[in-house]
Amino acid sequence: MDKKVFITRKIPEAGLNLLKEKGISFDIGNYKKPLTRKQLIKDLKQKPYDGVISFLTDNLDSEVFNACPTAKVFANYSVGFNNVDLEEAKRRGVEVTNTPGTSETAVAEHTIALIFSLTKRIVEADEFMRKGKYKGWDPDLFIGTDLNGKTIGIIGGGRIGTKVAKMLHNGFNVNILYSDITPNKELEESFKVIRKETADIIKEADIITLHVPLNESTKHLINKDNLKQMKKTAILINTSRGPVVDEKALVKALKEKQISGAALDVFEFEPKLTKGLTKLDNVVLTPHTASASKTARDMMSLVAAQNIISFFETGKVINSVIK
Ligand code: NAD
Repeated sequence: MDKKVFITRKIPEAGLNLLKEKGISFDIGNYKKPLTRKQLIKDLKQKPYDGVISFLTDNLDSEVFNACPTAKVFANYSVGFNNVDLEEAKRRGVEVTNTPGTSETAVAEHTIALIFSLTKRIVEADEFMRKGKYKGWDPDLFIGTDLNGKTIGIIGGGRIGTKVAKMLHNGFNVNILYSDITPNKELEESFKVIRKETADIIKEADIITLHVPLNESTKHLINKDNLKQMKKTAILINTSRGPVVDEKALVKALKEKQISGAALDVFEFEPKLTKGLTKLDNVVLTPHTASASKTARDMMSLVAAQNIISFFETGKVINSVIK
């Protein structure tokens, strides 16, 4: 197939092999960190590319689309697509896709790992050991919390939220609540999960875990007002997108012990962290690695390539995010 694709940064071989099999040529940006806007525009101007595989760190807007008007398909190598100006893409007839169904196991497992890191105080204890502070068994050392009997509040009962519920339902004796703008029958019937308003979950849950996309309805979904409504013992987990949480308000709430802890994989001003966050003991931080498993990354690469190929072959993509 006489088509050219630009891939903004390296992706796993799985997807590249698929493109090669179809005779599609590609250039890959040789970058170790997210491209600046200038680099992205310069790279897109190199050739009249027919399609692009983009990252969640590439802001796709009119200026970027202008840099490569021949590219009519942008396959985002992620589930989230809040980096794309969808109205602008639609106006220009540009297709945009994501990679749903590729990383829910990885993200759900990471979410559960974060829950236990906080409740069992793993990171604090590890630091204590490394600093040589352990002087012998002490009954008061790092008292944590058992998950048994707790109420888990899942905000966003989509693919990842459902997977988290399934893992917790099958593995631990917990009550599970969820909120979503659309009901999820599978969650309610198979895993006895009860649908409530987000405001009720905020008040009732011991552990609140966020699995919504970032959009106008979810920006600062967690804010200074509802942080005050949470239990003092509550912990907040965010593996969705940083701006879903007002991070400044969160730091204040954690400092003032309005809630007991937080574990974050995503950050409001990523890669920058809000002042004070790293000073807190009751926080666990990971660098947006919730979906960083080999299996998930390979699938993301495959799905991005499949969308590009489908567009070239049929004029239609598999996972359009254009409404
Ligand atoms: P999904 O589309 O299957 O589920 C999202 C759910 O949120 C949907 O059911 C939707 O109805 C619901 N929702 C939307 N707005 C809401 C609101 N205001 N209140 C309550 N519910 C609302 O998506 P998914 O695959 O479960 O992924 C969720 C998000 O996780 C993605 O959009 C992405 O931003 C994030 N994500 C992060 C990582 C990571 O590495 N940290 C990896 C994959 C996905």
